[in-house]
Amino acid sequence: MDIIQNCEVTGFIKDGNRVTGVRTNRGTINAGKVALCAAGHSSVLAKLAGFDLPIQSHPLQALVSELHEMVHPTVVMSNHVHVYVSQAHKGELVMGAGIDSYNGYGQRGSFHVIEHQMAAAVELFPIFARAHLLRTWGGIVDTTMDASPIVGKSPVENMYVNCGWGTGGFKGTPGAGWSFAHTIANDEPHALNQPFSLERFVTGALIDEHGAAAVAH
Ligand SMILES: Cc1cc2nc3c(=O)[nH]c(=O)nc-3n(C[C@H](O)[C@H](O)[C@H](O)COP(=O)(O)OP(=O)(O)OC[C@H]3O[C@@H](n4cnc5c(N)ncnc54)[C@H](O)[C@@H]3O)c2cc1C
Repeated sequence: MDIIQNCEVTGFIKDGNRVTGVRTNRGTINAGKVALCAAGHSSVLAKLAGFDLPIQSHPLQALVSELHEMVHPTVVMSNHVHVYVSQAHKGELVMGAGIDSYNGYGQRGSFHVIEHQMAAAVELFPIFARAHLLRTWGGIVDTTMDASPIVGKSPVENMYVNCGWGTGGFKGTPGAGWSFAHTIANDEPHALNQPFSLERFVTGALIDEHGAAAVAH
């Protein structure tokens, strides 16, 4: 396997409805099969390939405090006040919550969301009120209407999609990678990811797992 860094996909080469290659800013790559897994930019790339994805892209922020003694050896998550708090091995408190509500590709979020996360964290743990916030960061998450990923075939022949992980794509990685590899190799979804097809947004067989999928950690 080759990982080519700083190489932007700018388009796809197709023979009729079959993908045969990828155009990049560093030249063309011919390919028998193409797997699309660009997270927050999945719908941008799908558009280049000629189809729409039912994805909304939103900013999501997380933040860490300065280093502290180890006092919090677990993850606590509250859907009531809406925050999660864990402590990294080095000692930073790691906190986050929900997405910024607007659509966008700017990798930064709104200040009031950070303020809300901090207020919720202090409501759960008043002892952390004196912890200083060290840094925040934001990324783009690809959300679907049933808060579940899309892992399967696309409307373009020999092109496969793995996206829609929203705020929970780390934790799904082993299962997603395995079932996606099976789908690409066999040109058919595995039984595990069969319900997570793109067609469910046409048939209406959505996955009612919002509470399980739409949360961090
Ligand atoms: C602040 C924040 C906190 C999060 N917290 C959690 C958490 O606690 N638990 C959890 O499970 N998940 C969490 N997530 C979600 C998780 O980070 C993502 O779901 C996961 O990283 C997606 O992995 P991926 O491999 O699908 O995509 P990515 O790791 O995003 O990789 C996609 C790649 O595609 C590249 N790309 C995009 N467009 C192009 C193009 N045109 N050409 C070439 N390359 C392109 C991007 O540069 C990127 O490298 C969080 C996300 C954010 C933003």
